Amino acid sequence: MYKNLCYHTHNSFCDGKNSIEEMIQEAVNQNITALGISSHAPLKIANKWSISYENLLNYSQEIDNLRHKYRNKLHLFKSLEIDFIPSYTYSFVHFRSLLHLDYTIGSIHLVLNTKNNQLWFIDGDKKECQQNFKTIFNSNIREAITSYYNQMRKMILTQKPDIIGHLDKVVMNTAGEFFNEKESWYQEEVDKTLKVIKEAGSIIEINTRGLYKQKWHTSFPSPEILSKANKLKIPIIITSDAHHTSELLSNYEEAAIIAKECGYSHVMRFENNTFNKMKI
Ligand SMILES: [Zn+2]
Ligand SMILES: [Zn+2]
Repeated sequence: MYKNLCYHTHNSFCDGKNSIEEMIQEAVNQNITALGISSHAPLKIANKWSISYENLLNYSQEIDNLRHKYRNKLHLFKSLEIDFIPSYTYSFVHFRSLLHLDYTIGSIHLVLNTKNNQLWFIDGDKKECQQNFKTIFNSNIREAITSYYNQMRKMILTQKPDIIGHLDKVVMNTAGEFFNEKESWYQEEVDKTLKVIKEAGSIIEINTRGLYKQKWHTSFPSPEILSKANKLKIPIIITSDAHHTSELLSNYEEAAIIAKECGYSHVMRFENNTFNKMKI
């Protein structure tokens, strides 16, 4: 059952609100049988939301201890949501081998403008995000969005994430006001990115965080993108990207409806060290 699987969650090691153990206890309460712990991986630049590099081994040890403690209650997986910015981030392999991760989630939260070396944070406060876009990309939305997808493709090709985090989150603070997702140049960026995902064999998550935080009207990615992904037979999982115990299964049913409407009949389930298909 898709409602027993939760592969993308945050905790107090990064910007999550609860301890890992509190997340586990609530997961057990909600009959979640597979819980993935996926704090934001450290970056080589200061930020307010990732684990500090010094704390990485504590994070790993804590998950190992709790995995043992709750071994009869649920399957606990060790992961990280890893950013990719050329020269500002560590390689996925580095974290994979250092922490013995079960799987990796690759996400872009900061877009590099290669012309001026400035970073645009696509999340957070909307006004601030839009102001930063105007300053960093000189109000050129096509260049900003194209840079986002270019960086995403480079991440997929060079880092091979198991899961692609909130594929089109860049639209959250921009689409509608600065451009329309139906524009052909935008669709071309999406198509190129889906092709790379297919070749890499990565999984796309249907991320519900925009919905329950009321910051976006649908899932990340959009149903339009998911329909295209389904035609390419790219596998999916449903995730909440929970930063609080109350968010573990938020809008899961809505995500399942979206998945089915886009033609999906299966989601992926992590077991025996690999992802396998499971009926929605
Ligand atoms: Zn994220
Ligand atoms: Zn996340």
